[in-house]
Amino acid sequence: CGIVGIVGKSEVAQRLFDGLKRLEYRGYDSAGICTIDHGELVRRRAEGKLDNLARELAREKLGGTIGIAHTRWATHGAPTVDNAHPHIVGPVAIVHNGIIENFKPLREELIADGREFRSETDTEVVAHLVAREVEGGASPQDAVAAVLPRLQGAFAIAFLFRDYPDLIIGARMGAPLTVGYGDGENYLGSDALAVAPWTQRIAYLDEGDWAVVRREGIEIFDRDNQPVEREIVESGASA
Ligand code: GLU
Repeated sequence: CGIVGIVGKSEVAQRLFDGLKRLEYRGYDSAGICTIDHGELVRRRAEGKLDNLARELAREKLGGTIGIAHTRWATHGAPTVDNAHPHIVGPVAIVHNGIIENFKPLREELIADGREFRSETDTEVVAHLVAREVEGGASPQDAVAAVLPRLQGAFAIAFLFRDYPDLIIGARMGAPLTVGYGDGENYLGSDALAVAPWTQRIAYLDEGDWAVVRREGIEIFDRDNQPVEREIVESGASA
């Protein structure tokens, strides 16, 4: 339902939480945050109100200067902790808004390939598909470019890669996703409000676009994997 991502120059867990707070108005049933801390993907997830996630974060600190966060409005699988995003499969973590319509055949294919599922979500198939590519030696960009054409439905997705602590990849098809341009850090959000306290300079991704977000800059590609420019606008969203 709501997505926030930061490729930051300082710790991100609290800021990601604050971003989720600004997306609360959209409604949600569970929430979670994943960062890369000392070379590992680490996360906290909770059912219900963001207060519950805040308690998880207070219990054990989440370090790291890069991360993705999500408020979930369940479509496939009950609103439990196991079904809450981010989902982690091997070296890949993902958050997803919307629905992967063809998740059933993809899930069957992945199970036949020996992969084990830990949630009831449609989302987890995307994590497995990308993880399988990366584990097979593909770069994150090549992995995402290979998997996106296989997905049907309406979605916005953000990927985090354990071995690439300077990289978030975002993709959009039928659900909104924006990138935000900061000073020595960059952002991703399902709407301008999510990133409003950190930057007003944003670009709206177009249908089929995917974005490679790093501290130094953002590259955007269209559905044919061609580099494209999307206009940077002043969001005017007030923090
Ligand atoms: N379809 C996904 C799920 O049920 C994402 C739902 C959402 O947009 O939050 O987990």
